Amino acid sequence: MTAALGKDLVGLEHLSPDQIRLILDTAEPFKEVSERPIKKVPALRGKTIVNLFFEASTRTRISFEFAEKRLSADTVNVAASGSAVQKGETLVDTAKNLEAMRIDMVVIRHPSSGAALFLGNRIRSNVVNAGDGTHEHPTQALLDLLTIRDRHGKIAGLKVCLVGDIQHSRVARSNIWGLLKLGAEVGVCGPDTLMPRGIEELGVCRFRRIEEAIEWADVLNVLRLQLERMEKGFIPSLREYYRVFGVTLERLDRAPRELTIMHPGPMNRGVEIDSRVADGAHSVILAQVTNGGDRRVTRPLLLTGGRVIDPSRDFDQTTDVLVQDGKVAAIGAGLGSPDGADVRDVRGRVVAPGLVDVHVHLREPGNEDVETIASGTRAAAAGGFTAVCAMPNTDPVTDNQAAVGFIVRQSVRAGLARVYPIGAISVGQKGEQLSEFGEMVGAGAVAVSDDGKPVVSSHMMRTALEYARSFGIPVADHCEEPNLSAGGVMHEGLVATRLGLKGIPAAAEEIMVGRDLLLAGLTGGHIHLCHMSTRGSVELIRRAKEQGIRVTAEVTPHHLTLTDHACEGYDTHAKMNPPLREAADVAALRAALKQGVIDCIASDHAPHAYDAKEAAFDDAPFGIVGLETAFAVAYTELVAAGVLTLAELIARMSTAPAAVLRLPGGSLKPGAAADVVVLDLTTRWTVDPTTFFSKSRNTPFAGRTLTGRAALTLVGGSIVHEAVAATP
Ligand SMILES: [Zn+2]
Ligand SMILES: [Zn+2]
Repeated sequence: MTAALGKDLVGLEHLSPDQIRLILDTAEPFKEVSERPIKKVPALRGKTIVNLFFEASTRTRISFEFAEKRLSADTVNVAASGSAVQKGETLVDTAKNLEAMRIDMVVIRHPSSGAALFLGNRIRSNVVNAGDGTHEHPTQALLDLLTIRDRHGKIAGLKVCLVGDIQHSRVARSNIWGLLKLGAEVGVCGPDTLMPRGIEELGVCRFRRIEEAIEWADVLNVLRLQLERMEKGFIPSLREYYRVFGVTLERLDRAPRELTIMHPGPMNRGVEIDSRVADGAHSVILAQVTNGGDRRVTRPLLLTGGRVIDPSRDFDQTTDVLVQDGKVAAIGAGLGSPDGADVRDVRGRVVAPGLVDVHVHLREPGNEDVETIASGTRAAAAGGFTAVCAMPNTDPVTDNQAAVGFIVRQSVRAGLARVYPIGAISVGQKGEQLSEFGEMVGAGAVAVSDDGKPVVSSHMMRTALEYARSFGIPVADHCEEPNLSAGGVMHEGLVATRLGLKGIPAAAEEIMVGRDLLLAGLTGGHIHLCHMSTRGSVELIRRAKEQGIRVTAEVTPHHLTLTDHACEGYDTHAKMNPPLREAADVAALRAALKQGVIDCIASDHAPHAYDAKEAAFDDAPFGIVGLETAFAVAYTELVAAGVLTLAELIARMSTAPAAVLRLPGGSLKPGAAADVVVLDLTTRWTVDPTTFFSKSRNTPFAGRTLTGRAALTLVGGSIVHEAVAATP
């Protein structure tokens, strides 16, 4: 048999299908040995076998020992602990010693990939690999193949899916080779963080959802999740893992055919019970997300004679819009008004899909004195926004399912703009341990971000991008290299020099933009770059988009319209992070927005208490409110000034941001939820922060005269804002 197989059994990758079949066929009759009263056959009589275990694994070692004894071999066990191996003896030394002892066969288990091949190349004895690093574990895979063949009578044509930590699993690699060579179709399923790069190129199907794998497969081989993986941050917790990837009874109940379930090691129990408890709570919250806000019974509403602009369909016509049952029912001239309809003459005004803001801070929970979900969404409605995404730097941090659910419930209660929570990347935004993305997405989160804090660790960002892929959500990135920005309070440039304030260089942003674009390229994850402020960042994004990297980006109204000169006089309302930059940066940001290099406008609405901003420049917090001025600032400075067309501005504030975070909204197509804004583009008004619906007043635009405002805002067909008659 050795002649047909070669000297060593290092892995299944380099065996032929016939060789694998030969091993399985040879093994078959030996199973019967275990049933005999005297469990012994003389197959290996007179042979000496050393079990050389550099990794503690009692289970595997005992399996080999039993097999060797039943085959009548003489067995010697050498464990790494307490032996010469641990005292600095190298694998080469060991090999030489074994050679000298005329050993017939060495069974080796070693933490380094390639150790079995290395040993086999240096000694004349046969070498059997019992697991080397994350390379192969051919004997376990052969057992798995035998089990599958017994159960199904064949392997060719079967669909076998390996579930779990493929990246670190030698059992998975051996299984993939063995199954493919014997004609099975092979699937792999698990989070991206535990999936080796390019796995599809081995000829396997990649599943991101366990439900899809269960639907597809005849056999599921569930790999044991090693607890040490969590310490390296590949998954947030075992509980989350089982919630998302667990092979539960409920999931198996929905399988289209009877499945064979295999698992090579002992399962992690107890966690599954936890996940069922969580399941109950989760489904309640989900139902709320699905039903919230759209169940209100409202009168039909007919908007007549407005200029209807819907960038999602390149639609721009003066016509009527009928809103009924919370939806856009019809668009066209001469629509009859249903009984009891509220008819509004909107001639001279623009009817557009409601604005969407992918970046706001609502401060609840934790800082309800400066903003609440109710006051923030009231401000949003006044600004023409029908949906906002809430950043997670609340107190406590929005880093778990319950916190996400709280925000959803509060926003449903307020009944104004829709709120889509963004969950934290890391627990407590500490940058140490990944949050439970799956649980948060289940509760309604649409993205993850540690906004307010940069993700310092490149490994954490890589892992976040990979793990977020499993849920189809982007990672929203606050780009700041903290060692470079430390102590800075405004843009590093001439104005800072004159004012004697410590600057934040453009490079502090660009370094992180560059790093995270590379990581998005590496992982295939979707990076969404928040509040871009420099011309260097624009160039990096442009190049990344040309290369096909999955990147989207946002820019704030203030970075499009103000420069570091706004900090003159130490005006703390011009203190924000990233800081206001130079005229050349503003020009580059405007051009990028026009071209679509930057996808959308976001306000980064950041309320602060009056007395917090009423401080020395160095001591004041970063950030300004923006929901109630965003559209007017952008319209006045960009559209009226000829930088963007009106349709382009609406696209950048509604259709594009909805697309970036895959949110509903951003469209007036019939059947869509009636999230609509009616814009009055003739009224000139002066920004008076005391009239804000937001609880905070920190804006650099106070006293500015702007053009354009939301006259009417509808969410799900309900009027959530109606401007009082404009005062000239
Ligand atoms: Zn930020
Ligand atoms: Zn922010």
